[in-house]
Amino acid sequence: MDLLALLGWSLFGALIGVSAAQRRGFSTTAGVLGGLLLGPLAFLMYFVSGVTKDDQRRKCPFCAEQVKADAIVCKHCHRELPPTVSRAS
Ligand SMILES: [Zn+2]
Repeated sequence: MDLLALLGWSLFGALIGVSAAQRRGFSTTAGVLGGLLLGPLAFLMYFVSGVTKDDQRRKCPFCAEQVKADAIVCKHCHRELPPTVSRAS
């Protein structure tokens, strides 16, 4: 693989990393770094993680932290969460 192709892949990976970061609630910087390091692998991971139901998150109504969509009790404030409302956040 030549340098230009490698650079293209890295940029592509960084873009995917940013969108994955926003979707999954971790920092954009981590997404960019991860994307740059992983390149095309980030792309694959994005799709693999995208189909995992376990990774869906919602906001706790009490402390506003991100919790898993299937959670019954908030891991941050330990309050009982209302049943999942099927609504895209
Ligand atoms: Zn909470």
